[in-house]
Amino acid sequence: MESALVVLSGGQDSTTCLYWALKRFGAGHVEAVTFDYSQRHRIELDCAVRVAARADVLHTVLPINTFAALGGNALTDANIAVQDSTDAQTGLPNTFVPGRNLIFLTFAAALAYSRGIRHLVTGVAQTDYSGYPDCRQATLQALEQTLRLGMEYALTIHTPLMFQSKADTVRLARDLGALPALVDTHTCYNGIQPPCGECPACILRAKGFAEVGIPDPLVERFRKP
Ligand code: ZN
Repeated sequence: MESALVVLSGGQDSTTCLYWALKRFGAGHVEAVTFDYSQRHRIELDCAVRVAARADVLHTVLPINTFAALGGNALTDANIAVQDSTDAQTGLPNTFVPGRNLIFLTFAAALAYSRGIRHLVTGVAQTDYSGYPDCRQATLQALEQTLRLGMEYALTIHTPLMFQSKADTVRLARDLGALPALVDTHTCYNGIQPPCGECPACILRAKGFAEVGIPDPLVERFRKP
């Protein structure tokens, strides 16, 4: 029986991918890995721990502190505000952490290798997203090839959300029975709960639920006394 390792950020997309992997590979054949990259919002790590515990999967948290040392983006540098603006030169949002997914997947591949796991699952999407170049299919295909060559290991990177809109992802979560788990997820770029509802990540998440016409379990949680 094949096994899979899911890169779990504690967000909506990776949580949905965890349940996708559980359905595809079966309970007992799925693990999760989360990276502590000194992100400003430690709440992400707490969410990942809760999501993994709820799904009853083995969960590994690996430290990578180099991104914080590099600085220059709104997700690791507290001096940079998260804005709905893009860099004039690159056209990318200031939440872009250069190299992040490349490094995450490379370390995930190393962990998978050590465990004899041949399937990586990541929630990246090039549709309806922030335009991060390391979330595009071409990048992921090239990286898969690089990892296969570099580790001489038949590794497959699965990207079930690559061409899904946020609404599609909400529908998928519903169909997989993952909606209850979304109460433990974190999306807000401002790192607060209840979510701010105003940052680009919150707006995109709300749009997805609104299009499907079902309430966001996370938002509902804070609505109740
Ligand atoms: Zn927000």
